[in-house]
Amino acid sequence: MKALYADVILPLAFGSGLSYSVPESLAENIRPGCRVRVPLGKQKMYTGIVARLFDVPPTDINLKEIAGLIDDAPVVNAVQLEFWQWLFSYYLCTPGEVMKAALPAGLKGPRVAKAKTKSFLCLQPSLRDNPPAIEQTLTALARAKKQQEALRVFLRLAQTSEHGPGLFREQLIEAGQQAAIIKALIQKNILEVHEIEVLPDRVPAEALRAAKQLSREQQKAMETIRQGWESGTNVCLLHGVTSSGKTEIYIHLILDYLAQGKQVLYLLPEIALTTQLTARLTEVFGNRLGIYHSACSDSERTHLWNKQLGDDPFDIILGVRSSVFLPFKNLGLVVVDEEHENSYKQQDPAPRYHARNAAIVLASLHGAKTVLGTATPSIESYYNCRTGKYKLVELSGRYLDWQLPEVMAVNTAELKRKKRMKSLLSPPLIAKMQETLEAGQQIMLFRNRRAYALMLECAACGWVPRCKRCDVSLAIHKQGSVLRCHYCGRKYNRPQICPSCGGSDFELRGYGTEKVEEEVRRLFPAIRIARMDSDTMRNRAAYEKTIADFEQHKIDVLIGTQMLTKGLDFDRLQLVGILNADSMLNYPDFRAHEHAFQLMTQVSGRAGRKSGRGSVIIQTSDPQHPVIQHVLNNDYRAFFQKECEERSKYAYPPFSRLIEVIFRHKDESLLEQASVFFASLLPRDMESSVFGPMPALVARVKGLYLQKIILKIGPDISLKAAKDYLCRARDRFIKDKVYRQVQIYFDVDPV
Ligand SMILES: [Zn+2]
Ligand SMILES: [Zn+2]
Repeated sequence: MKALYADVILPLAFGSGLSYSVPESLAENIRPGCRVRVPLGKQKMYTGIVARLFDVPPTDINLKEIAGLIDDAPVVNAVQLEFWQWLFSYYLCTPGEVMKAALPAGLKGPRVAKAKTKSFLCLQPSLRDNPPAIEQTLTALARAKKQQEALRVFLRLAQTSEHGPGLFREQLIEAGQQAAIIKALIQKNILEVHEIEVLPDRVPAEALRAAKQLSREQQKAMETIRQGWESGTNVCLLHGVTSSGKTEIYIHLILDYLAQGKQVLYLLPEIALTTQLTARLTEVFGNRLGIYHSACSDSERTHLWNKQLGDDPFDIILGVRSSVFLPFKNLGLVVVDEEHENSYKQQDPAPRYHARNAAIVLASLHGAKTVLGTATPSIESYYNCRTGKYKLVELSGRYLDWQLPEVMAVNTAELKRKKRMKSLLSPPLIAKMQETLEAGQQIMLFRNRRAYALMLECAACGWVPRCKRCDVSLAIHKQGSVLRCHYCGRKYNRPQICPSCGGSDFELRGYGTEKVEEEVRRLFPAIRIARMDSDTMRNRAAYEKTIADFEQHKIDVLIGTQMLTKGLDFDRLQLVGILNADSMLNYPDFRAHEHAFQLMTQVSGRAGRKSGRGSVIIQTSDPQHPVIQHVLNNDYRAFFQKECEERSKYAYPPFSRLIEVIFRHKDESLLEQASVFFASLLPRDMESSVFGPMPALVARVKGLYLQKIILKIGPDISLKAAKDYLCRARDRFIKDKVYRQVQIYFDVDPV
């Protein structure tokens, strides 16, 4: 028999795969995708995944041996291994970082994770069907009255149990027996306990509802998508205005693929969005639908992973970003809903992947089709339609002819000049709110910043309190009493005396959602108000309760940050107010206008559905700003045209590719030297593509300074060549004795 070797991926942030020799005893059963135990260094043992097996001896003849094989069948399939390979080479990280992100923790360790179980109780074998022995046992318990009683209850319930000779521990507890008493019966070897795997609640077939019939326009859009796929364009972009009924189109497409015996991955940008959608999809697909999100416990994630590997996997997975890592056997369709959302991009830690783009690659590895859907396409995706890479499908009418809301701008600069802005809310907005409330309808107010005020300022000298660990001013919370850093979360007391001039007169600058709430309470004292931002929505339950309260009209006015913009539908929402649109437009980032357009259009789309035409009021000091005009006219194409003109002028994406090189260290001058050194390692002919080193927008976070180098890769240089240069420079950089202590990483296609 030939000697056998294996490349093994270890969950480490350095190095590529390591090679090991396979002992003869394991050679027969080992497969790529199986977990193995391997030694590393002098004493450490790691659990790794076999990436590849080969029989040509590697150059390093002192290979260590694999210590043990954990699985007899792969836990990562061949397509997944190929997908991992794409991820680490495209996003310039290590295979181990991809492995860490991909595998649920239950699969990372040596033990095979347990599925969700329930304790099932039955009599121990010698007592079963043995009335005299049972009688004896009961008599023996005469001095332990509670245990005797518990055993009697058990015997009575077990007689009629639908689970055969025993029952679940929780049934006995429901019947009034104490956990400690039950435990005593188990310890005395009277009752036996078995852990039984419980499956998710089955939805009976009668409870399922049929998919809704599509309108003529939806039908047409669906046919165009199918034609696109048939003609060889594997990715379609469905651009449909808000409330155009995109979800129903997805449902019909999913039914198509299920009928062919294929699996479907339905991606959503964040867990918050799953609430209403899960309900709708469960109505149609019942227990063929599995849900995977970040709030799932680790054992739930491991269970789902194992289920997908097994013989009875879910046909549809509804999930957030990380569900692209799940095993699929027969993936036929990928739906990426709200494809424009930035939360599809993982920021930290590596792999810093974009789930939309990764899902498109995953689909192609499976030979599957992709549909991207949104009311506000990302510039990149729409551009890909223009160049013919994707197929564009447009849905311009709202479902059932619901009208798009009437959107108007209120000029706050002019109102201020005329001394008519006596509140954060302009007189036209207040009047419209009054009218809406009197008609028994609901209102949303959108302000893209949380907190009470954005900063505190000394009235005499302009000094502003800043975080000691981060390079930012502190936001003001709780009506001005608490100062907090939005980057590290640290709290500070409000200063009484200015440390710069000794003055004691401070002013609040800027406002956030907390202040808006206070203002609405002052203006409309009798109404019900709720606020939705990351200060008030600490968990999913709080979020779901607020959504349910608003749906049931227990809330009249909902105030919030971009959480409000997330694809939710409310029947009685009639008015949307957008406060301080200027702050979104003036953010120093080349994507600021794109984000502003998306946020304003998305939040506007919440207004007016069944209950008639809704209204949107945008407060801005610059109503003539092109982005405001495009939002007012609901003109995506004009917005896209203008945005492309700007971006091509400065060679920003989609006219180039960006890669950021980020450096982090607590010593500012060492950091600067290190980043200059790195830049010097890049070849001359790349010079025109290299920008920086420069401090990051927030130059220090949690005590660490940040520097970055931006690479703008135009058509004159290949992405692959640029990445090779970067990796070579990094390899050289981390060999340097002084600079290697500086943290360095790459962010490919940053957002
Ligand atoms: Zn001062
Ligand atoms: Zn801070």
